[in-house]
Amino acid sequence: MAKRQLLKTINRVAILNAIKAHGAIARTDIAIYTHLSPATVTSLTAELIRDGLIYEKQAGISRGGRRPILLALNAEGAVVVGIKLAENDATLALTDLNAHIIKQHTIRLDERDPESTSQQLARGVDGLLAKAGARRSRLLGVGVGLAGMIDSQAGICRVSPHNGWREVPFSQLLEDQLDCIVYLDNNVNALTLVEQLYGAGQHVPNFLVITVGHGIGLGIVANGQVVRGANGGAGEFGHTVVDPSGFECTCGNHGCLETFVADAWLVRRAQIRGLDVDSALALTVQAQNGDARAVEVFAQAGEVLGCGMANLVNLFNPALIVISGEGVRAGDLLFGPMKAAMQRHMFAQLAEDLEVCIEPLTDETWARGAAGLVLERIFSLPALD
Ligand SMILES: [Zn+2]
Repeated sequence: MAKRQLLKTINRVAILNAIKAHGAIARTDIAIYTHLSPATVTSLTAELIRDGLIYEKQAGISRGGRRPILLALNAEGAVVVGIKLAENDATLALTDLNAHIIKQHTIRLDERDPESTSQQLARGVDGLLAKAGARRSRLLGVGVGLAGMIDSQAGICRVSPHNGWREVPFSQLLEDQLDCIVYLDNNVNALTLVEQLYGAGQHVPNFLVITVGHGIGLGIVANGQVVRGANGGAGEFGHTVVDPSGFECTCGNHGCLETFVADAWLVRRAQIRGLDVDSALALTVQAQNGDARAVEVFAQAGEVLGCGMANLVNLFNPALIVISGEGVRAGDLLFGPMKAAMQRHMFAQLAEDLEVCIEPLTDETWARGAAGLVLERIFSLPALD
């Protein structure tokens, strides 16, 4: 990006964030908060009003003289679409600039190859806009979150285990279909961005997001930045080895953390104990009804998860850990033993101010996370590389 353009983008983001943080604010106060000249504030806010991102609200309180016009975020002035791309279906959510979901729907994916998937998703986006009565011109961009190793800068899916994709330039494919900008990222990173922008992670420079359910995911925020690693593969917490002589995992290694904690493995371990269950939900019900074998499966999973989390705390020293995912349904069956194991294995000094927050998660939240991929570009500073 040319230096002039970059400077302008940075200043626009600074102004947008000042407005987002204060609700409604006068131009003179924006200049004070952002340290920008009044002339720059005037010209950039005019541009933001034209783009529909902010609007002139009622006049504020006078400090002598004319009452100043307040500027506010035009949350509904523009929309974004977030897509959670799963194995057999995709959940699409249309959100405003505050990541509030306006409309959402789930579509079945009949074909899984990248080309057909992009066509089906494009139809899904058009259908969603029509349902919400939103004009196409208001769509700022589309974010897609999926499991796997994603190069978010290049918009390339390096490896996705669920649909067997390798080296797929999916952002480009979908952009060709939709004729609007498309951002691609690992689904847990997308969720982490939403926590950082709007959720528990706001103003927390160092925090972790752990998802439990179908797989075990990890989003890392260190010094205010999402850590993606050299190839977009950081955060494969589920495939850290817990027992080298354990069961063979879907990744080909043995004894990964997932083989103790992920839904399919909970079921398998329950079946080995002689329980007749075919889903993690059914197992949860059995355990809630007091079946000792079911309780034991969750206790073991919690213990392994808690040890792994203690390792993460000792590595990253986070101020906050958000635990989410479909697996949250197990509640204290899982989190009781998990917390106990964490307490035993964390450095006491690191545990002192650590907050652990457990949030339920649905497909809708995952899709909202994907919307965060677009929103992040609006409210965050561009990467300097
Ligand atoms: Zn594995």
